[in-house]
Formats: sequence, C-alpha cells, structure tokens
Amino acid sequence: MGSIGRDPLFAASGEGAELTDADGNRYVDWVMSWGPLVAGHAHPAVVEAVTRAAHRGTSFGAPTEAEVDLAAEVAERVPSAEMVRMVSSGTEAAMSAVRLARAATGRTRLLKFAGAYHGHSDALLADAGSGVATQGIPGSPGVPEAVTADTVVVPWNDVDAVDCAAAEHELAAILAEPYPANMGLVEPAAGFLEHLRRVADRTGAVLVFDEVISGFRVARGGAQEREGVTPDVTVLGKAIGGGLPAAAYAGPRELMERVAPAGDVYQAGTLSGNPLATAAGLATLRLLGAGAYEQLTATTRRLAEGLERAAGEAGVAVQVPWTTGLLTVFFSELPVAGFGDAQGCDRAAHAAFCRALLERGVYPPPSQFEAWFPSLAHTDDHVDRTLEAAAEAFAA
Ligand SMILES: *Cc1c(COP(=O)(O)O)cnc(C)c1O
Repeated sequence: MGSIGRDPLFAASGEGAELTDADGNRYVDWVMSWGPLVAGHAHPAVVEAVTRAAHRGTSFGAPTEAEVDLAAEVAERVPSAEMVRMVSSGTEAAMSAVRLARAATGRTRLLKFAGAYHGHSDALLADAGSGVATQGIPGSPGVPEAVTADTVVVPWNDVDAVDCAAAEHELAAILAEPYPANMGLVEPAAGFLEHLRRVADRTGAVLVFDEVISGFRVARGGAQEREGVTPDVTVLGKAIGGGLPAAAYAGPRELMERVAPAGDVYQAGTLSGNPLATAAGLATLRLLGAGAYEQLTATTRRLAEGLERAAGEAGVAVQVPWTTGLLTVFFSELPVAGFGDAQGCDRAAHAAFCRALLERGVYPPPSQFEAWFPSLAHTDDHVDRTLEAAAEAFAA
C-alpha cells in the first residue's frame, strides 16, 4: 500500500469474495490473501473442517491421518508428486527443495529467473519479484554475497540465456515458476517449459517447478498438468493450506527418500503437517473438482476481457494477460514478456488506478508485480461491480 501512496488496509473480516476493513469499509477482494483462498473467505466447509480439527487438538508433533490424506490428494493430482513432504510455508518448501537438489546432484549452483519469487530464503533472494520488486530492493541487506554467489539469474522466456548459463555452470537445480505471477503474470512462451525440461535432462540438473501460486489454481494438477511438462520436484503452498499455514515439496520416491528421517538430507518443522492447516487444505482441495476450474476460467475471462475493454474505452494502454484464476493489468503499450518489461510499466498510472478502485470499494493487488486472484466465491455481480469501478478508475 505504501508503494501506491496509501495507508495499509487493516482487515477485520472476510466473507466469500468480500473483505471488511477495520474502518467498516467493504471491498470486493481480488487479493484473497495473495492466493490461498481459491474457495473464498471463510468457506463453510473449510471453517467446519478447521473447527472440528481444533476440537481434536491443534498439534501433536506426530503424524496424523489428515496429512496422509492431503498428501494422497496431492499425489493423485500433481503429475510429479509421488512422495510429499509437508512444511508450513512456501519459503520453507522452496528452500528445502534446493537443499535436496544440491544433495542429490552434489553441486551448488542454482538457476532462477529474474522477477521470479521463491520465498525469502537467502539463496533465492536474488533479483526477486513480489514485494522485493515492489519495494525496489535489488538484493537484501543481511544476505551475504557469498550466499547468492551460487545463484545464477537469467531473463524469463530467454532460451539462449538458459543455454549459456547451463553451459557455463554445473547446475544443481533450475527453478521456475511455470506460470510466473510475482512480476505480474507473464506466461511461458511456447516451448519454453519443454526447453527447461530438456536442459535439465541433458545436464543432470534437478528441475524444480515452484507452483506455490499456480498449484491447484490454474488446473487441478497445476501448471505442469496443464502444460504437459513434468518437473522433478514441485514446490506447493498457498492453496494447499486453504488459508492456513501449509506448504509442501514433492517428487519421485527415489529423490524424496533422501529427506530425513528416511534419508540424510535434514529438514524438519515443529508445526509441519499441522492438523488445522491440513484440514483446511484438504477441505479446500475437495471443493476444486473439474467444474470449479470451468467456473474459475469463466470468472477470470469475464474480468480480464472487461478490464481490457474498460481501459480501451478510456483510452488507457494496458495489457491484461490472464489464465485460469490469475490476471495482471499491466500499464504498458506492449505485451509484457519478462521482468524488464514489467519494470518498464507506467507504475504511477497503475498506482492511481489502484487508489481509484479502492475509493470505489474494489481491492486490487496494489502492486504492478502481483496478480489478481479470482476465486470460486467471485460471482458475475462481483465482476460487474468491479468493471463499473474500473471504468471510472481508468477515466480518472
Ligand atoms: C508466495 C510464494 C512463495 C513463498 O511462500 P510463503 O508461504 O509466503 O513463504 C514462494 N514461491 C512463490 C511462487 C510464491 O508465490
């Protein structure tokens, strides 16, 4: 909110697709906790599952049936997921996936993409998107140069840069958000994900797809199912916890059995697989059948096409890339193919647009480097109210 010149919005409560702030203002919420709430705020099935779990005890430090059920659901949906390790945040999951890749390959170098965000672990805070980009922090103080020295950053959708980096460095892992959404939504160019798969196969690097946002959102089995490209390790978060702190990393048995206590790669967490979080995640995933994705696609299309039309009518140049459950309004005359293009957007105009929407009861992600998060709770009426506000906001 600081980046668009506003005071923070303090949330008081949420219901479905709407959020009420501490001053009693009500908004159509397109942030939805930045991704976890695919089913909307306080969905009755999720609230009931969490309440029932709480009555049985909130934490044990021992396995529970719910985490096994959730892992089974993940394994059934996500092509690369044969074994699943639960953790509590996407940061932890990505950090642990990197440790596993380094252990499995005996190498240290990582390849990531400019503008991609993989949480705030030290090694992955190089040229990161999301809040790092919004606040214009190039690297972060407190992260020793030695720790990011092994992180090679290349532009998204740049085949030659990937090939050069793979030739020059012995890579432990190639990390990608298959549908990057932390520089705004920038979809992969045709064949790009397949290329990453081929480079990983050729060089022996572990291909890690960070599906913390795209997982269970863009399709039942995430971007990898939709694109038909299977990574070695998948990082999951956000939707998998249904609004509570759960995340996971998953992969083939051979690789995952390297993780302690079965193997020698240490990783643990006091609240990992927490009963409340796994209950919320499982209840959320059970709402996400095939029909849910049709609905989410229709809602997102209606919103994206409406925003593009409203901007056109007001004579404002925007690009509105969208996919199921995700879209970004880039204030740009040209299509946005990577982080450089996103950084070149008219951020002052974007900020003014966000302020104007907030004044009209619509809560957009207040950053040019984030995506809007349509949910199953957003109705045509929510979309239409948003488009009315947007027409005025673009004009203003
Ligand atoms: C949000 C996010 C993370 C970090 O997850 P946290 O739960 O916030 O630690 C990692 N990767 C991607 C792609 C994300 O969007």
